[in-house]
Amino acid sequence: MTAKPAAAPARATVYGYPRQGQHRELKKAVEGYWKGRVSADALRATATELRAANWRQLAEAGIDEVPTGDFSLYDHVLDTSVMVGAVPARHRAAVRADALDGYFAMARGTQDVAPLEMTKWFDTNYHYLVPELGPDTVFSADSSQQVAELRQALALGLAARPVLVGPVSYLLLAKPAPGVAGGYSPLALLDRLLPVYAEVLADLRAAGAEWVQLDEPALVQDRTPAELDAAEGAYHDLAALTDRPKLLVASYFDRLGDALPALARTPVEGLAMDFTGSAAANLDDLAAVGGLPGKRLVAGVVDGRNIWINDYETSLATLAILLGLADHVDVAASCSLLHVPLDAAAERGIDPQVLRWLAFARQKTAEIATLAAGLTRGTGAIAAEIAANRADLASRADSPLTRDPAVRARAGAVTDADGHRPQPYTERAAAQRGRLRLPMLPTTTIGSFPQTGELRTARADLRAGRIDTGAYEERIATEIAEVIAFQERAGLDVLVHGEPERNDMVQFFAEQLTGYLATQDGWVQSYGTRYVRPPILAGDISRPHPMSVRWTSYAQSLTDRPVKGMLTGPVTMLAWSFVRDDQPPGDTARQVALALRDEVRDLEAAGTPVIQVDEPALRETLPLRAADRPAYLAWATEAFRLTTAGVAAGTQIHTHMCYAEFGDIVEAIDDLDADVISLEAARSHMQVARELAGHGYPRGAGPGVYDIHSPRVPGAEEAAALLREGLKAIPAERLWVNPDCGLKTRAWPETEASLRNLVAAARTVRAELPAS
Ligand code: GLN
Ligand code: ZN
Repeated sequence: MTAKPAAAPARATVYGYPRQGQHRELKKAVEGYWKGRVSADALRATATELRAANWRQLAEAGIDEVPTGDFSLYDHVLDTSVMVGAVPARHRAAVRADALDGYFAMARGTQDVAPLEMTKWFDTNYHYLVPELGPDTVFSADSSQQVAELRQALALGLAARPVLVGPVSYLLLAKPAPGVAGGYSPLALLDRLLPVYAEVLADLRAAGAEWVQLDEPALVQDRTPAELDAAEGAYHDLAALTDRPKLLVASYFDRLGDALPALARTPVEGLAMDFTGSAAANLDDLAAVGGLPGKRLVAGVVDGRNIWINDYETSLATLAILLGLADHVDVAASCSLLHVPLDAAAERGIDPQVLRWLAFARQKTAEIATLAAGLTRGTGAIAAEIAANRADLASRADSPLTRDPAVRARAGAVTDADGHRPQPYTERAAAQRGRLRLPMLPTTTIGSFPQTGELRTARADLRAGRIDTGAYEERIATEIAEVIAFQERAGLDVLVHGEPERNDMVQFFAEQLTGYLATQDGWVQSYGTRYVRPPILAGDISRPHPMSVRWTSYAQSLTDRPVKGMLTGPVTMLAWSFVRDDQPPGDTARQVALALRDEVRDLEAAGTPVIQVDEPALRETLPLRAADRPAYLAWATEAFRLTTAGVAAGTQIHTHMCYAEFGDIVEAIDDLDADVISLEAARSHMQVARELAGHGYPRGAGPGVYDIHSPRVPGAEEAAALLREGLKAIPAERLWVNPDCGLKTRAWPETEASLRNLVAAARTVRAELPAS
């Protein structure tokens, strides 16, 4: 194939930018509005300024076409629901009374009405508000916000492209409205939705949009032929409209697969595709369909969801191939930059050499502009940038931080036996029964106890230097003593120390492991006004000293009952961090697992009889495509077993996951070979217990009998009823009694009452068991 010279210059563009502002101004303004301290006008003014500042930043970095409509006061999927008039019946009065308050009512609920459900945006840590749709849904177009934002950008003299959630993905991301039968597919509403999109497109055209981007990330998931047909038909219909801008259909997070030929056949003017990571297969697939003759291709070659610098030479090679496969090629990040922090240059605590390896949103826009220049003017025009990039990549590859020979040697020497407990479960169970002497239906909790205001204040005081380490640790010790005393009074069987020393279950360990970096300002939106600061898995991982032994042992010294040690598992340590991109994630997971294995050993040596390794993220990092799942589950379960398999038969390994729907990973759960697993089950009436039993799960299980997501105190009789339900699926010798999840977000009074009821329920049901 011969590469055509680019006819028009390659444009640099992005699909979205972090919304929060340099100092999280958006969070402050929105929360201020909720508290009544900021007026609606002031909130809108802040939003307007933040958008302008973002566009200025993009233009200065050399982005030729800026996105509009990607900004949001809460969530862009909620904004789409507003745009198409899909307001649930229970929120209509609030929206009618005041559009802004109604918007926040949908997002957060009010005293009287529940909010929309929130769930993860594909396999990212961003959460969107799930549209609720049913056969009665009537759509109506409201393009006002989109039009206003486009006008704002155009008035600044910028070339701007509105970005909308596409109609197919919008419907595929929706769920049936309350009261609508579960089997209902909102995709049935496509014909009703398209005229609304047609209206919005016409309005945007009238406001000056040359192009509009329609995001269809749902098409990178496994889709049925009917769904692909629906998508193809939708874009034929939209393309057939006469009064419309040019259409750019965007996909990201993975390869398009079968959706690629379907979209390529439609007469839309452009496709935006991801060419990073597992989506790199798009390159071959594109060649296989004969390219995109007559179309614009926006090539996502800069990873939009990780924080590492681009490899210019690799990207330029990809772009060179793409030039021969489309009419016109532009350069972009693989997805919206919403998923990375704003500006690496703001970081003060990271070694300047290491900082050169990092690209947050701002640095990525510069990379995109550089690559577009290289594509247009030839690599000679960016020779200096390429040389600097090569040097930075080399310094990363050679650094002692990224390559620790001892860690590599150890990971390379891992054998299959290291990942398997030598004794079968029955033998371990007997040894553990002898050692722990627990009653039938033993009671325990998931780990954390209420994180009180005083604890948070103590941590802030320590950071600010208002108290010293000694005073802080005294505070922690007092808290642990109180938590232990309470659990003894309440009559729990396996106690915990309560995790008061942990700010966050990943960050706490990341801060103590060599190879992890922390940021000061690396905030990423998780949902609404909630931002997280994921640590960075930058190099080879080792554990310079024990991390949890001290407080666990202290707790054990206060009681004769067994205290459970609490660790965060390797899969979750990866899932809630930025992961290095210079080796397969499985290799990184193995290094983390070996560090945790040492921690498990040290806990055991210190006399900890029960050790829980939490893996709440095991399911959420499941690859989007089913074909990629077995490989993921293989390294994920291996990492868990490597963490836990080094203990003696009498040491009981627990794990915990907080979700009720785990059907697609039930085999993986079994593969973990943990002695006991606790899961969320209260709301689903022990459904997980039945599913585990259906699968023939042979070990201990604690389906939660107390829903910790609500301040409601479950009655003892209610918990007992759930336990009796659980007993129908799991025999008494293997059934545990515990809440759904950790108690850190709860207050003390309801926690005390709930746990007392939980213990009472266990005693009641125990007494009903046939004497053995
Ligand atoms: N041990 C943790 C806690 O109790 C588990 C949290 C989680 O599952 N997300 O807080
Ligand atoms: Zn949990």
